[in-house]
Amino acid sequence: MSMLKEGRPTAPVAVEQGDAIPATFTGNRGLMLEEALIFELGDDRTTGVDLEPAPAAPSRLGGLDRSAPIGLAGLSEPETVRHYTRLSRQNYGIDLGVFPLGSCTMKHNPRLNESVARLPGFADVHPLQPVSTVQGALGVMEQLSDWLLKLTNMAAVALSPKAGAHGELCGLLAIRAALEAQGDARSVILVPESAHGTNPATAAFCGYRVEDIPATEDGRVNVAALTARLGPDVAAVMITNPNTCGLFERDMKVIADAVHGVGAFVYCDGANFNAIVGRVRPGDLGVDAMHINLHKTFSTPHGGGGPGSGPVVLSAALAPYAPLPFVERGEDGSLHLIEEETAGEHHAGSFGRMTAFHGQMGMYTRALTYMLSHGNDGLRQVSGDAVLNANYVLRSLEGVLDAPFGAAGPCMHEALFSDKGLAEGFSTIDVAKGLIDEGFHPMTMYFPLVVHGAMLVEPTETESKAGLDQFIGALRSVATRAKNGDPSLKGAPHFAPRRRLDETQAARKPVLSWTPPAPAEAAE
Ligand SMILES: *Cc1c(COP(=O)(O)O)cnc(C)c1O
Repeated sequence: MSMLKEGRPTAPVAVEQGDAIPATFTGNRGLMLEEALIFELGDDRTTGVDLEPAPAAPSRLGGLDRSAPIGLAGLSEPETVRHYTRLSRQNYGIDLGVFPLGSCTMKHNPRLNESVARLPGFADVHPLQPVSTVQGALGVMEQLSDWLLKLTNMAAVALSPKAGAHGELCGLLAIRAALEAQGDARSVILVPESAHGTNPATAAFCGYRVEDIPATEDGRVNVAALTARLGPDVAAVMITNPNTCGLFERDMKVIADAVHGVGAFVYCDGANFNAIVGRVRPGDLGVDAMHINLHKTFSTPHGGGGPGSGPVVLSAALAPYAPLPFVERGEDGSLHLIEEETAGEHHAGSFGRMTAFHGQMGMYTRALTYMLSHGNDGLRQVSGDAVLNANYVLRSLEGVLDAPFGAAGPCMHEALFSDKGLAEGFSTIDVAKGLIDEGFHPMTMYFPLVVHGAMLVEPTETESKAGLDQFIGALRSVATRAKNGDPSLKGAPHFAPRRRLDETQAARKPVLSWTPPAPAEAAE
């Protein structure tokens, strides 16, 4: 080992890892800090603020006053700041490292988007302000709509849906409204086996019966099976393109023509639009409705269940049924928000509203900033680079991980692997947990269902070659351990705040409230 002048080692000293390391008194490991629940930390005598006692006043609560303490944990300000900062360090985010969740498109959120969204004229608008005072905000909605329509070659767009799944609901409601207007309510929606779970869930939620369409050997929709099933009871097909195996559905136009031939509609799940933006316009493929996840293709943040945005583009056949509200430019050049159906107007058939107001303004501003800062050629490069990066991952794992469709040619924006070839007793979960020890968020696991032990890796275009090489090195190492049956991998993650949690129990029987421990019995 070499030393600096001061005698300090320049290379880390190899130490034996594992359970031989003695437990620390605090439970902390170096700078990885343990953190208790806020209720366990606080007590009701501590407070971060110093308020005067409220003056006595007669109650106006009609006898409904609280009779017991509210039970909030009392913490001082520094304790509160540390609590949340420690918790945040146990989280992983796109600003920390490669976040290869396939289908989710965890790309960098440009800081330019953030500064534009925080301009007071955008950040402080209120949905009930008079329209004359928010012409700029409506202008953002108009321009964003214009970009979305041009990029997709569709006739109309509903901006208000708040996520991809909400967009699916919007699209199917428009399809149902169109069919009902023809007096032809139908009952079945066809969904390929590889679909995201939200597709059949949305169809079922709308009251349709969902029928599976099988995949071919090469991971695409089985066109023969689909066309054989088409008939007068089919309302729509929902197809993801590129699909969740990371492959382009080349027969989309043939499928759309067959679907239209029986009077049904084509819903395209556009979650993977980031692979084709600037290159393929779904309107040219016969799509009738497609959601666009602004938090995937157009780089807005994925909120923790927070502000997503899933605008839906619609074909001319569905445009009359689009939900309210939408922005229109009047003859005097000013922008109007159409909020009500008006008899005789082109929107008289609108199926209603998706949201109370206009949708996620902050996401519109960010997405439009992304579009304007990239331009048409930049967006085209985004999809090209996303596909290039995914193929680099796919080819770099050759000989280590099985790629079920890898032999057939390049993938689109995500690379799909299976657990075939891992040692007996080892599966995808072990590879994923091993990646956590390497400092990476795992890839999407066990989805799509058409592949055994699926691992879906989506690097996105914003990773550099150096970042990808690090990730590939880690994945090759972990996958090799899984192939060789390295028993230490079964215990991974060894270096995370928690090891393997019972996720099924946590989902099925969540413990959502805290019960104070019983007071200690007085010593006799
Ligand atoms: C992300 C995703 C969805 C759902 O989108 P949300 O914005 O998360 O509601 C639907 N389909 C596919 C293929 C997806 O990747």
